[in-house]
Amino acid sequence: MGENFAFFLPIMMASFGVLFAGVWRWRVRAAGFWSCAFFCVAGGFAVPVAFAALPSALWSLVADLLFGSGFLLFSQALLERWRPSWLIHGRIAIWALSMLLCAVGIAFDNLPLELVASDFGCFLLIGLPLIAGRNHLGHWPDRILFGAATLTALDNLMRGSTVPLTLSDGNFPDSTYAFLMQALACIFGLFLALAALAANMIDLLDRYQRDALHDPLSGLLNRRGFDDAIAGRHRKLPLDGSLIVCDIDHFKAINDEYGHALGDQVIIALAGMLTRWAPSNAVTARFGGEEFVLFLPDTNAARAAGVADDIRENFARDVADQFGLARPLTASFGLSTIQRADASIHDAIARADTALYEAKARGRNRVCVRRALSPPDASTAGPVAVNLPYRA
Ligand code: GH3
Ligand code: MG
Ligand code: MG
Repeated sequence: MGENFAFFLPIMMASFGVLFAGVWRWRVRAAGFWSCAFFCVAGGFAVPVAFAALPSALWSLVADLLFGSGFLLFSQALLERWRPSWLIHGRIAIWALSMLLCAVGIAFDNLPLELVASDFGCFLLIGLPLIAGRNHLGHWPDRILFGAATLTALDNLMRGSTVPLTLSDGNFPDSTYAFLMQALACIFGLFLALAALAANMIDLLDRYQRDALHDPLSGLLNRRGFDDAIAGRHRKLPLDGSLIVCDIDHFKAINDEYGHALGDQVIIALAGMLTRWAPSNAVTARFGGEEFVLFLPDTNAARAAGVADDIRENFARDVADQFGLARPLTASFGLSTIQRADASIHDAIARADTALYEAKARGRNRVCVRRALSPPDASTAGPVAVNLPYRA
């Protein structure tokens, strides 16, 4: 059995190393540490097999170094999720002390000392991150990873504590110790690798989902993110609330006069204002260019017009000054409320858009409201425009 493991373990660990190297190429930093850690452990298992002809003192030292370094890298891979630089010097000191004691054990032909030093070093290196991780267990990938690391730590602790029992005949390759080490490394190594892989892949998917649903310039939701948020947060129909559509006035002239980079800063400034002034349950999105959409759940037209006018007023007052512009900088707003006859929220957005055009046509820097009233037979209802001249 020992011989089968002897060949199987390095291949299994190296395969995980390759797998995590692939994940690392997608810019998942922790995967780089996982990859190097599994390669080190693979090396640790491979050295006694590959260099069996050399004196055992030599390959023992190299194997201990590779195992110790592998566990130092495991600790960093775990902490990348929780607190990357936590106790970095302390962990390196534990690694160095463990390696020193291993070397002393080898030099004085004291196998138990070498094994205890290696196991306790590995236990501390993978166990310490659990202290930092215990406050970050909100998501299930973290919990699975925490569980797998705990089992691996306990495995090392248990093995290190029972060296005198499992090494009773003093012959390492045929000892219970060697069997336990290989069998448990196989089980817990697999569990740790799968847990880390799941956690890394979920992080990656989260990142791509975030990128797919957000506008990189303003950090707000994009059009798809807006639809997704409405579908996710408001499953219960019918929807109720108001829609605000907002567009910066004469923005092309700002770009032409002051450059595209400053135009970008203006977009970011307006996005910040929308987030600051909208109610906390509002869904705020950049639909493209300098056009933004806000959904204010359970908010009537009068309250929504108040919110829009606050934003309009603050934008007109502060942003031109903030960027030292010689010309005034304003934005126009169109507003509508959800109606019972609406097939989707996009009907209300379309009405708010019409109101926005009206605001532009009436001189800009204002809020216009377009409200479709629902008569008894809503299917035949035509929209009725109501213009509120919110103007400074
Ligand atoms: P109006 O008052 O009628 O809205 O006039 P406008 O000039 O704001 O509107 P128009 O649609 O003519 O121009 C919009 C400009 O917005 C043109 C485009 O170059 C600029 N724009 C679109 N997206 C971005 C962006 O991400 N950054 C910057 N800086 N400019 C952008
Ligand atoms: Mg514009
Ligand atoms: Mg526009």
